[in-house]
Amino acid sequence: MKQTRVNVVLDKGFIDQKKYVVYWMQQAQRIEYNHALSYAIEEANKYKLPLLVIFVINPSFPGANARHFTFMLEGIQELKNRFHLMGITFIIKVGPIVDSISPYLHDAISLIMDYGYLKIQKKWREDVLADVQENHHINAVIVETDLVVSFATTTNKLMYSARTIRPLLHKLYLDYCHDYQEIELEHKTLLPFTGDTDLVDISDFIQKNNIDRSVFPSAIYHGGYQEAVKTLNRFICTRLHYYHLSSDPSNSFTSTLSMYLHFGQISTIEIINTVTDSALVYGIPQSNIDQFIEQILVRRELAFNFVSYQPEYDSFEFCTDKWAYETMQVHLYDEREYIYTIKDYEEFKTHDKYFNAAMKEMVYTGFMHNYMRMYWAKKIVEWSHSYISAYETIKYLNDKYFIDGRDPNSYAGIAWIFGKHDRAWTERPIFGKLRYMNANGLKRKFDIDEYVKKCDKYLKK
Ligand SMILES: Cc1cc2nc3c(=O)[nH]c(=O)nc-3n(C[C@H](O)[C@H](O)[C@H](O)COP(=O)(O)OP(=O)(O)OC[C@H]3O[C@@H](n4cnc5c(N)ncnc54)[C@H](O)[C@@H]3O)c2cc1C
Repeated sequence: MKQTRVNVVLDKGFIDQKKYVVYWMQQAQRIEYNHALSYAIEEANKYKLPLLVIFVINPSFPGANARHFTFMLEGIQELKNRFHLMGITFIIKVGPIVDSISPYLHDAISLIMDYGYLKIQKKWREDVLADVQENHHINAVIVETDLVVSFATTTNKLMYSARTIRPLLHKLYLDYCHDYQEIELEHKTLLPFTGDTDLVDISDFIQKNNIDRSVFPSAIYHGGYQEAVKTLNRFICTRLHYYHLSSDPSNSFTSTLSMYLHFGQISTIEIINTVTDSALVYGIPQSNIDQFIEQILVRRELAFNFVSYQPEYDSFEFCTDKWAYETMQVHLYDEREYIYTIKDYEEFKTHDKYFNAAMKEMVYTGFMHNYMRMYWAKKIVEWSHSYISAYETIKYLNDKYFIDGRDPNSYAGIAWIFGKHDRAWTERPIFGKLRYMNANGLKRKFDIDEYVKKCDKYLKK
């Protein structure tokens, strides 16, 4: 494994009388291509000890609702059985992170954590490490596994655009795609721990733990590694061939893998390797593979670069560049022809049938096509009193309804609406030099009424 993925925070070596190794699984909710799990297995083999994997459910995670929890817990449910078969003890705890993990650290020789890129994830790791320093004698290691190339290896700077990060990633990614090795646990002793729930019935769990049920689980998208693999295979067999047409929202040629990536239920490395290996078998044009790699590698890792090097990635004041703030300042008081409320959006009550269709896709399925995400958010800018209120509305709806919400891609995608990673365009009202999108563009480029019909059908399901 590349050492650039590994951060040994506390190295105490062999410690006598310890009984197992702990892996606190958080960002990488999978077994396959999980470098943190592999590291934990290697550590257990090195010390000839069994492995305990802990997953903590925090029912009061800010903004998370039944839709997000259901998708995530479908994946966790699947892991439970698979870990058992591998001879690895897997427990699910419910509550605050440190209180849930700390009792298991006294007898552990090492604590392995996967890396999390967002503020809340970094804070959790800091809190766990503070507890470890204060109360435990243990090795502690953080392993980064959710990007193809570990973020600090690509660059130690905030990148200006895809153009600047692309050559750096292209130089490194193939080497990183082939650096994973599956390792088997040698001491398959199951430990006598049961955790707080065995998660037999997810909807019962959601109800009993007072999780916000105002947004219902998606009837279309289901979580877990098996579903992710099914989605990947369907993409390769039926969609990748048409990926050059994937910007058209009226067809479904994108992968819809973003939600699985968000919860770490599948690795980008597995996706890229499977896609490239299958290309020959299915006769996929190289240009389509390249286009897909541009999204899953360049665009995605640019978003992770943004949240890694812009500490205030989720605030309007720090989301974009000087030229964009300057142009917005000039157009702050331009007259807005329409002003809508969040309720209007949620009830599909704007005058724009394409926007309303996009809202239906979002509210009913938990997903939205990339082109419509751009159009949808640009319209909210056009119909809001101020840029900052538009930013807050977009973020609110994005994170409430999308299964893949609250992701580095969410913050970079929203920032892009306000000029980040983009360039200046011809000046016009309200948008200034920010890129503008309109319904005529949709009609000109796509059979957009097909998209409207498709979204109307979600209502009837
Ligand atoms: C306003 C706005 C909000 C967005 N909110 C989110 C969000 O909450 N969560 C989220 O994951 N993505 C978000 N995106 C980025 C993008 O729209 C989605 O990642 C993409 O639509 C997911 O669909 P897919 O998996 O079928 O993509 P595919 O075309 O199959 O692409 C494969 C993968 O590449 C990555 N990717 C694709 N497009 C982009 C992009 N523009 N930027 C970064 N990575 C990309 C994703 O990981 C995606 O799963 C947002 C974009 C905008 C403009």
